[in-house]
Formats: sequence, C-alpha cells, structure tokens
Amino acid sequence: MKIANEVVEASKKGLGYDLYKALFLNYGKRGEKAYFYLSQNRIKKYRDFFVVVGRNEYIVDEFFCSCPDFQLKLKGQKPCAHILAVEVAKLIKRYDEINAYYTDYQKP
Ligand SMILES: [Zn+2]
Repeated sequence: MKIANEVVEASKKGLGYDLYKALFLNYGKRGEKAYFYLSQNRIKKYRDFFVVVGRNEYIVDEFFCSCPDFQLKLKGQKPCAHILAVEVAKLIKRYDEINAYYTDYQKP
C-alpha cells in the first residue's frame, strides 16, 4: 500500500490548499479528515507507534491502523484517515514527538 503520488507531490509544499485538494480528490472524506488531523496537530509520534488523536486514539504502524474503519470497512486494503494523516505527517515532519512508549503510557 502506498499513498497517491499527487499527495506526495502536494505535501512538498506543506499544509495548504494543494495538499487538501490532493487528499480530497484521491481519498474523499477520509482525505479530508486526514487534512483536519494534520492541521490540528493531532499526530503524535511515540517511541513505538504513531498515534492519531480523534474522538478516540488510534495506533498507526506503517500501513496498519487500530480503527474500525480500517479493519472492518476497508478490510485493511486501503488507507484510512489516520494512516493518511501519519503518512503525510512523516513527509512534512508535522507531528509531536513524545519521548515515551505508547504501550507504557496506556498502563493504569
Ligand atoms: Zn484508522
């Protein structure tokens, strides 16, 4: 699984209309949501995983996401909004780095 070339190209200019348009045209609502996560700085890079903070927190690891959209609706075949957000975040280096393991952080 790879993200669309247009998105990769548009991301070179950083956040902005071109990136929004590329995400929306290639991925529809999921692309739009990904842009929202990026613009709201909702992508966190822990030492073990990327996490996207939406209504819930979802773990993204390469082309895997813990959300039900990815696992049930997309059946792991296409990137969900969280995967798109993380892939673009890596390209434009727009994420918060957290010097901790997400898995530790989750322990009560
Ligand atoms: Zn997801």
